[in-house]
Formats: sequence, structure tokens, C-alpha cells
Amino acid sequence: MNRLIWKDLDRDARAAALRRPVQEVAQRTRDAVALLLNDVAARGDDALRELTARFDGVVLDALEVDAAEFSAAEAAVAPALKQAMRDAAGRIEAFHRAGMAQPYAVETAPGVVCERMIRPIPRVGLYVPAGSAPLPSTALMLGVPARLAGCREVVLCTPPRADGSADPAVLVAAQMTGVARVFKLGGAQAIAAMAYGSDSVPRCDKLFGPGNSYVTEAKQQVAQGGRVAIDMPAGPSEVLVIADDGADAAFVAADLLSQAEHGPDSQVLLLSDSADLLTRVEQALSEQLRQLSRSEIAAQALEKSRLIQVAALDDAFAISNTYAPEHLILALREPRNWLEKVEAAGSVFLGDYTPEALGDYCSGTNHVLPTAGAARAYSGVSVASFQNFVSVQAASRAGIAAIGECALTLARAEGLDAHANAVALRLEAAA
Ligand code: NAD
Repeated sequence: MNRLIWKDLDRDARAAALRRPVQEVAQRTRDAVALLLNDVAARGDDALRELTARFDGVVLDALEVDAAEFSAAEAAVAPALKQAMRDAAGRIEAFHRAGMAQPYAVETAPGVVCERMIRPIPRVGLYVPAGSAPLPSTALMLGVPARLAGCREVVLCTPPRADGSADPAVLVAAQMTGVARVFKLGGAQAIAAMAYGSDSVPRCDKLFGPGNSYVTEAKQQVAQGGRVAIDMPAGPSEVLVIADDGADAAFVAADLLSQAEHGPDSQVLLLSDSADLLTRVEQALSEQLRQLSRSEIAAQALEKSRLIQVAALDDAFAISNTYAPEHLILALREPRNWLEKVEAAGSVFLGDYTPEALGDYCSGTNHVLPTAGAARAYSGVSVASFQNFVSVQAASRAGIAAIGECALTLARAEGLDAHANAVALRLEAAA
């Protein structure tokens, strides 16, 4: 990791310190993804099979998981893992249910009632990554809120394994949340399949889920067409830790590594006002890194990561708000007292005993979160992400009498005669 002292950096060096690895590959990825999307749009299932052979190294006959594969998965997953998934799903449901929006109605003038109704998005597509590690937890994070929202059809794509099967734990998690159809497709081609539809895969109204740079770029490109919506840019994972001198260096190092092991393009940042803490974390990182099964991946991610010494913790919050991390850990004494300084972050973890891994799996919050600075304007997945909010208004005769003049004045000011006429006719009839 690079160690930096913030006050010694000029403007350019500060920008470089906060640059994400994913930004460096953007143009190459954009071009590659555009070609993949066009191919799937033009050739459907044939393109999907070819691209799966090229990128996942497996030739598939049927793209969809059938009943026999679901049963085999059910038998293959250990009871303890199933129980852990059930426990996690229960807490995810409790948290997400409590946050559900309610319909409401307001009388905005005598005889004028405005309402907001909530409707599930009919057909949604979920992406569950499995390139470098299958993530059954993501199936829970997407499937639980989709079910709470009441979506009519939930389709899930996840990359196939080398033997052509889907990851059994992903299948069990999908079934647990009531996902109806699972397709063995990964990367940009999976996103294209759900956005455009093919003979095998139904076209979806909105796409959800995290993934690598190809998946994230594909989601953004299909959304530009306007026919399909996406949850948010949820790309390569990142964490920013703000730690004080009292923080436990081993805990902080473990949290940094738990992000770094996601992939070489993950990014981890540590900000502290204590040079001593930074040194202790450096030592803990090299000790813990050696023991990880994914140490090679984590080491690559660490190369692009930074330990930054700040003059005061207030500076750390200013940097964090500019960076807008997906995950923000406050390894501080009295962390709640600092919470109001947080302006932009996907999910916040308070204190020494709240590792980010809890939010990844089972505290109850969602782990599908905005990355690459998108947390400045996007929020993590919630039940509302799977719903449409439809407004309704009803005016009685008394209602149009009360507010008709207001509409007339505005319509005339905008020079829209037909608008004015539609109101004037009713005003005369209601008089
Ligand atoms: P993935 O499923 O996203 O991607 C695997 C697919 O990428 C493959 O099936 C293949 O089709 C495609 N691919 C690979 N190389 C390609 C190439 N050269 N050209 C075109 N397509 C190619 O799995 P992954 O790679 O393990 O990535 C998962 C990502 O999800 C990680 O970066 C992780 O950090 C991120 N993540 C983010 C969040 C979040 O909420 N933001 C949550 C969990 C995971």
C-alpha cells in the first residue's frame, strides 16, 4: 500500500490519491462491452452460447437451470450453510420490511385529493456474480426485497462453473427468496440477455446487482437506451476506513483485506490522524495477507490502495465525502458522534465490533451498494428499488373551482392555449 501525508500533497497528487483503479480501464471496457451488447441484441441465444464458451470456458446446451439441477443443488449444500442463509434472509427481510414506503393521500385544496400508490415493477432481472467467487449472499440481498415488493416475475443470471452447472448455494439462495427462473449467464452478455430478451431469457423491466467492470458498464449502456432501468452502478468493491489512535490495528487490517480479496480492481483506503496507527496497520496487513487463500488477488488490490495520514479527523471526513465510498468504516472512539459528518457513503459501519463483513452477509442491511463515487447521488438497494410510485389526483367540481384559476394563469403564461381551454371549460360547467 502507498503511504501518503495529505498536507504534503498538491491538488493533482490529491486527485491521484483518490483515483479508483476502475477509472483507468474505462474506455477499453466501454468498447468491449458495446460489441458484446450488439452481438446479443442481433443474434440472441446463439451469441449467448458463443460468448459463454469464450468467457466462461463452457459450452451450454440449455441456458436455464432445470428442476433436476435445482434438486441436485438442494442436496449438495450443507445444512449449516442453508441455516446461515435462512438466518441472514430473516434479518435482511426484517430490516427491509421496516423501511418499506407506504401509500399516502393529501387534500391539497378543498375538493382536490392527491395520492401516491405503490406498484411492483412487473419483471425484474437480478445479476449474481460468480466470476472470481460465487456470491449466494447477493441472491439474498436482491431476492428478499424483490419478494417484499411483490414483483410478478423475478429472473436471475449467474455465470456457469467450468462443468456447466450453476453454483449450488446461489441456486438454494435463489429458491429461498422465491426466484422463479435462473439462467447460467455471466458478464455483459447476461445483462444484454435480460435487457433485450432472447428465445430463452425474458426481457426484464429493471436490472439489479453488482458485478465486475464489464457487468457494471453493460448495465449503464443498456440503461442509456431507455427501455430498461438499472438499480445503480455497483461495480468493483471499495472500502474507506477512518481510524483513530485507539483503533485495533488487526481489526482494521482485516477489514481492509476483506475488501481487497474481492478482486484486483477493488480499492481500499485508510485515513487516520495517527502515524503510529498507520504503521501498526501496515504490519498487521503483511502478517494477515500471507495467511489468506486469496492473497494474490488481495495483494494486487493493495498495490492500488492508500494509507493516508491526515492532520485531523475532520479532514478525513472531508476526503471521505469527496470520495463517496461504497463502504465507510468508522473505527473511532464514540463513532456515533461523528455520524452527522457523513454526507455520502453507501453503508456505514460503526465502531470496532462492526466489521464490514457483517453488512456483506447478515446484519440485515443491503450489500448491493453504489461504487465509484456514485454514492454521492445513489442509494443502496431497498424494497423501493423494486417498486414504481404512481401519483393519482382527483378534483371535484368544488376542487376545480378552488384551483382552476391557478392553472389558467400558469397555462396562459406558458402560451399553452389548449391547456387553458381544458380548465376553462370545466370552470364554466362547474360554476
Ligand atoms: P462477475 O460475475 O461480475 O463477472 C464474471 C463474468 O465476467 C464472466 O462470466 C465473464 O462473462 C465476464 N468477463 C470476464 N472477463 C471478461 C473479459 N475480458 N471481457 C468480457 N467479459 C469478461 O464476477 P467477478 O469478476 O468475480 O466480479 C464480481 C465483482 O462484484 C467484484 O468486482 C466485486 O468487488 C463486486 N461486488 C460489488 C458489490 C457492490 O455492491 N458494489 C457487491 C458484491 C460484489
